[in-house]
Amino acid sequence: MVNDMQSSLFGAETLDPGGPAALIPLDRKQLSCAKCKLSTSRTNVVVGEGNSVEPFVMFVGEAPGSQEDASGRPFIGPAGKLLTDMILAMGLSRDSVFLANVVGCRPPQNRQPEPDEITACSEFLFGRIRAVRPKAIVALGGTAAKVLIRTNKGVADLRGKWYTVGQEQDGVPVRVTYHPAFLLRPHGVPCKAATWRDLQEVMTLVGLKTEASAP
Ligand code: URA
Repeated sequence: MVNDMQSSLFGAETLDPGGPAALIPLDRKQLSCAKCKLSTSRTNVVVGEGNSVEPFVMFVGEAPGSQEDASGRPFIGPAGKLLTDMILAMGLSRDSVFLANVVGCRPPQNRQPEPDEITACSEFLFGRIRAVRPKAIVALGGTAAKVLIRTNKGVADLRGKWYTVGQEQDGVPVRVTYHPAFLLRPHGVPCKAATWRDLQEVMTLVGLKTEASAP
């Protein structure tokens, strides 16, 4: 599925060679970004991290939380610890995947990022996808799904099938699942089994064994 934002931010740049080297100027630009109001309240910009050379999987979350804002690193708080366990259960490590967010600055009180903030940060997310070229992307939660596959549907409706971000020939398969922060809440706990099934689909697609045990 290609949409307007993707074709302008992803497909239209197909002549750009991209590759891991493209991350350096991208990170540098994002670290000094002041394109939206989140830049006024952040402590640190949180850029993506992990394996930048064709990782099996890129995980895309929503936004940094307080611990990520304080450290400048993605997914190191409670939700990040659960995500790390999920990655290990897949037979992978944090170093072997790539971790990214829809926005790089923490929204005040951890509110959801607003449309202007998402738009301002899109060049970094889509630029990173192009640079890293993962075999598959896991959209963690509704905000990541909304941005990657341009939908307002909820995670429950989006699970269970593959989507594509980018143009046909260099599109990346996307699977939508629950955000680890949701899985930590009492009403999210029952969704852990479904999340594990989603991750097993991803493992199958990228050629990993699926006998690994659930986190
Ligand atoms: N939640 C996210 O979506 N991203 C992070 O980096 C941390 C928590």
